[in-house]
Amino acid sequence: MKKIKLFLLLVFSSTWLFSQEKFPKYSDVQVPPKEAQFWEKLPNSFVKCELCPWRCTIAPKQRGLCRTRENINGKLYALTYARPCTINVDPIEKKPFFHVLPGKNAFSIAVAGCNVGCKFCQNWQISKIAPDESIINKQNIP
Ligand code: SF4
Repeated sequence: MKKIKLFLLLVFSSTWLFSQEKFPKYSDVQVPPKEAQFWEKLPNSFVKCELCPWRCTIAPKQRGLCRTRENINGKLYALTYARPCTINVDPIEKKPFFHVLPGKNAFSIAVAGCNVGCKFCQNWQISKIAPDESIINKQNIP
């Protein structure tokens, strides 16, 4: 359950309170893929991802169902690490917790990819692409 919560936190947008004065200037930083957590080695350079209930068995040079975790030379890497596809500052009233601090801003950040396929997905433009297919979309960021 803890792994699922962590995954959902990473894949779906995570939102927290935002103060424009404290937010650093955004810059496009190229970061190499980071070795993932929650996986194990299998024979013949296969890996088994254990982050979510799909538990994908991934061959070398392949990705899991979510397209965010890739087997590179027998190690599993998180392609989403430090690669957001959308960054945005919104009125908190647009968020599910609009009643928390009325009149304040909320900062949202999301990465591409998702491990589920809801037919009613409101974020399909980013949930159905891989991290390397995404274009950083930043709005209202200094
Ligand atoms: S869908 Fe992604 S997170 Fe879930 S087990 Fe497969 S590779 Fe891991």
